[in-house]
Order: sequence, then structure tokens, then C-alpha cells
Amino acid sequence: MGLADMGFLDNIRRVTPYVPGEQPKGKVIKLNTNECPYPPSPKVRAALQGMDIDLLRKYPDPDAFELTHAIAEYYGLKDSQVFVGVGSDDVLSQCFLAFFAGKRPILFPDITYSFYDVWAQVYDIPYFQIPLKDDFSLNAEAFLRENGGIVIANPNAPTGVAESLETLEEIIKGNTDSVVIVDEAYIDFGGETALPLLQKYENLIITRTMSKSRALAGLRVGYAFGNETLIKCLKDVKFSINSYTMNLPAIIMGKAAIEDDVYFREIRDRVVATRERSKEHLRDMGFSFQDSKANFIFAKRGAGQAEEVFRALRDKDIYVRYFNKPVLRDYLRISIGTDEEMDIFFRELKECL
Ligand SMILES: *Cc1c(COP(=O)(O)O)cnc(C)c1O
Repeated sequence: MGLADMGFLDNIRRVTPYVPGEQPKGKVIKLNTNECPYPPSPKVRAALQGMDIDLLRKYPDPDAFELTHAIAEYYGLKDSQVFVGVGSDDVLSQCFLAFFAGKRPILFPDITYSFYDVWAQVYDIPYFQIPLKDDFSLNAEAFLRENGGIVIANPNAPTGVAESLETLEEIIKGNTDSVVIVDEAYIDFGGETALPLLQKYENLIITRTMSKSRALAGLRVGYAFGNETLIKCLKDVKFSINSYTMNLPAIIMGKAAIEDDVYFREIRDRVVATRERSKEHLRDMGFSFQDSKANFIFAKRGAGQAEEVFRALRDKDIYVRYFNKPVLRDYLRISIGTDEEMDIFFRELKECL
């Protein structure tokens, strides 16, 4: 029987999935998925060790109150303004489902986090991609058109470019009839948070993650801020799918992570310092890039070289990210590792050029 005879295929939701960066086994220098090169806070370890295993017998708190409250307190918000999820990918996908239910296309840049078009497709949300300018900055005016919602990563991925608060405000203010999501996965490394705009605009949602700046990609904790009405809608959608997404260890360790601000600042500052040093190295080696405010650098060195360099580095067990797509295919996205890892990376990179 050929595929054409399988009538049931008409009833199946078929999508082209998001392709995550490789997670190679064994000892490699891993600069391909923007993880933190440092371990999580020692308080996270202590929290896990102090966890009463007997409690795993019960379902976790569906509101993940301990975690939600700790996050709300840290950012000076009300508990009712915070939503938590299984990484910000989960938070964002629930936001797409909850806030982008209209008929008009949602808008996001043509070069951005490559999960946005995948969620739009899986949820049957019409979308329109707004071209970035040549320097990878946002064309704010182009977002002032009819739409069913907007999502913008700031700083953007994979470019690392951060937009000013004025630019974001122009878009949020000009679209009061739709929800504007600002994905701040990388905001801890630089750029201006849209948090101050929360009091002014009821259509704003901000998403964050513990995966990058808090060294907890494996734990899967993300969160969103918004006004109480939007957060309530988001919770209603989440509770209509799975009430118990936040498992007990994630609640306990996530809380410990948010409470250890001293450690957070220390590792964040180290990553930022290494990023600035790495920019100089890359420039000396003939790479060009827009100024990155994230924990990675999106760099180019002439046309048609990137894929070859990517492969040569991989042969040396050094993983960076390469996107085989128009415009992006001349670039390498290099996550910031420890100083030692970056020294090895630059030494080996020199040999690949
Ligand atoms: C990494 C990333 C996320 C998702 O991170 P989680 O690990 O799911 O929290 C979301 N948005 C952008 C732009 C990212 O780069």
C-alpha cells in the first residue's frame, strides 16, 4: 500500500519540527546550545539533597506556589503576575496557544528563534515574518500593521542583537489590540528588560528562562510575567492540558536558584567578561559580527566558509552552531564557554581558517 492510500494521513497533524542543537556524548567542548559553562548554585545541590523523597508519592502543587512566589518576590511582582513552566519553550508554546487564537497573522522577525514558526505551524496560527534590517536590527514601523499578536526575542537569537526599550515600547504601544510577547531568554547578559513597561501596558508578556544565565538547562524551568488577566488566561490554558507540569524537584531547585542572587551575578558576570574578551579575539581573526548582548556571538568571516569551519571544529570535538539557511549560512553561532574552553576554541579555530 502506498502513502496515497492511507486516508488516515489526512487526519494527522504533520509539522516540520524544531531541530535542537546536538547534545554529543563524551567529552567535548560544547559551544552550540548557549548553556552556562559553570555549574548551578551550590544552594541548588543543597536543596535537592534536602528534598524529602517521600513527598514524591504525591502530586506536586499545580500552582508551583513556592517557586512562583520566590520569582515574584525577586522581581518585585505579585504572585498573580507570574506563570511558571517546563522551560521557557513550554511557557512560550502555552502563550502561543493562549494569546494567538485570532484569525489575523501573528508577526515576528524573519531571523529569530526558530521555534516561533514551528509553534505557529503546530497550532495552525497564521504568521508573517518581518524582515530585519541589514544590521539585524528590528524594523519597528513594520510591526505597526494589522496582526493577531507579536513575538520578539530581545536580545534576539541567533544574532545577539539587543533592541532599545524605546523601540520595544513603540511596538507594544502601537499594538494595544494584540498581545506582544518579549522573549528575554538572554536579557541577564545585557540589554534592557521590558519589565518597567509591565505597569504601563496590559498587552505585554515577558518570558524568561533558568536555562542560560542560571545554569539549569537540564532542570527545565521558565517563567512569564504579565498582568493578572493575561496570566489567568495562560493558567486556564495550561490547566486544560496538564495541571502538574512542574515537578517537585524543579520547584524546589528552581526556588533555590532564584534565591541565590550572589552566585547568579558571579557566573553571569564571568560569562559577560569572557564574551567581551572573545569579541576581541574574533575581530583579530578577521570575523565580523553585530555587538552581542547574549551569551553567544554570531560571527562571519567571508562568504562560504562557515560550514567547512563548523565541520572541521566538530572533527576536533568542538561544537558550535551552524544554520544552513539563507543569510545565516555564512555565520557560526559560538556560545561563550569558560576562559579555558575559549582558549582551546580559538587555538583550534586558527588552524581551521
Ligand atoms: C534557549 C531559548 C529559549 C528556551 O529556553 P528553555 O530552555 O526552554 O527555557 C527560548 N527563547 C530563546 C530565544 C532561546 O534562545
